[in-house]
Amino acid sequence: MDLLKMKQGLSSLSEAERLELLKELEQLSVHSVTAPKSQDSRRFLLDNKLGCCAHCSHPKYVKFGIDKGSQRYKCKSCNRSFTEYTGTWMAGLQRKDKIDDYLALMLQEKSLDNIKEALSINKKTAFDWRHKILASLSENDKDDFTGITESDETFFLNSEKGRSVTHREPRKRGGSSKTRGISNDQVAV
Ligand SMILES: [Zn+2]
Repeated sequence: MDLLKMKQGLSSLSEAERLELLKELEQLSVHSVTAPKSQDSRRFLLDNKLGCCAHCSHPKYVKFGIDKGSQRYKCKSCNRSFTEYTGTWMAGLQRKDKIDDYLALMLQEKSLDNIKEALSINKKTAFDWRHKILASLSENDKDDFTGITESDETFFLNSEKGRSVTHREPRKRGGSSKTRGISNDQVAV
């Protein structure tokens, strides 16, 4: 989908339809536009030892202090640290509490000046966020927005690094499974 066309389409939507779209955007997977609300499930999984490392997908990690107000975790396998936001466009943002309002104003096509005033953020922040949001939207475009219908689950290839492969052909790192959806090759998170 062409981003320009999408933006043109936005202006023809009613306010109710825009709110509907905003809700859908919030449901997108963690790799795309996500508002804090949809982070709840990721946070829940991580806090209940049901998540996995954002870098190597290892299931064992420990709580490891606080990073910019977010719980940080440290992987027991690769030793790297991560938060629920790692890998999303929100990683490293200071004012995550304002993201919902920002997205709402952006969908109303408010100018950066308007948004800056409404949220009491500086213009550079308003500009940077817009850039990050649009960039993560165009990443989605590559998948033809299938993310909207398949947003409930994000699949990670089951990491079997260090174990010898006996029940299937070896797969190169980062390869994709031939089977779509839930299969033995993938774990839903
Ligand atoms: Zn790791």
